Amino acid sequence: SLAGKTAVITGSTSGIGLGIAWELARDGANIVLNSFTDSEDDHALAAKIAEETGVKVTYIQADMSKADQCRALIEKAGACDILVNNAGIQHVAAIDEFPTEKWDAIIAINMNSAFHTTAAALPKMRKAGWGRVINVASAHGLRASPFKSAYVTAKHGIVGMTKVVALETAKDPITANAICPGYVLTPLVESQIPDTAKEYGISEDEAVEKVILAKQPSKEFVTVEQIAGIAKFLCSPAADQITGTQMVADGGWTAA
Ligand code: NAD
Repeated sequence: SLAGKTAVITGSTSGIGLGIAWELARDGANIVLNSFTDSEDDHALAAKIAEETGVKVTYIQADMSKADQCRALIEKAGACDILVNNAGIQHVAAIDEFPTEKWDAIIAINMNSAFHTTAAALPKMRKAGWGRVINVASAHGLRASPFKSAYVTAKHGIVGMTKVVALETAKDPITANAICPGYVLTPLVESQIPDTAKEYGISEDEAVEKVILAKQPSKEFVTVEQIAGIAKFLCSPAADQITGTQMVADGGWTAA
């Protein structure tokens, strides 16, 4: 059980981050939810998880595209035994038409934020004598697709960063690993279906079948629950010597 531990999960009001929050809360960890918004829904979500699982859940607003806010999130969290760098966005366009502000935002949110939160969290983990850094990367941290230059760059970057963090914490009771999901049907994927259809000049149904699930030999989406289960496993004693590696759940995508 993770009772007494605190997990900070960036970008956790939706999709994979929210699924990880539920799973770690069910395992007894106190949870810090985060997103860049600060809506009533965000706070209601925190209250709901707390009520259903009995752990302490707080919502802390912080924009993961801003270095100082990334670091402030960890400071405001107080304890940070488990850091899940999950916040991420996507934009689909050819590189010569890729908007610079989208490139900057993706590199900042999907990659740079993990540098800042990890830098702020490691001293706390060392002091506590235990820690887990879990970076939600992607199969796109290991393979490329056209029209996703910023995303593929950021995800390859975070896979590399994970290895460095593992080496720098190798003598501490801290591990750092990346989870590399294939396609998971979350709002992030749903929202890129229209642009994918447009780039390839096909219908949205064809985009799902011929482009998105074409990558995944299983022909099935990975589920949020499956990714959350991997995160929970990485926090368990069985994973104490798993560090600096990638937990790949992609229906066979990267086997090809
Ligand atoms: P999602 O859109 O459902 O959730 C993203 C979360 O990030 C939301 O809570 C959103 O509020 C938050 N967020 C966005 N911008 C932020 C910012 N500037 N500051 C703080 N929070 C911010 O997406 P998801 O599919 O659950 O993606 C979560 C992570 O999983 C991302 O890093 C994504 O790249 C990765 N991933 C997703 C898939 C997939 O198929 N869905 C596959 C591989 C990896």
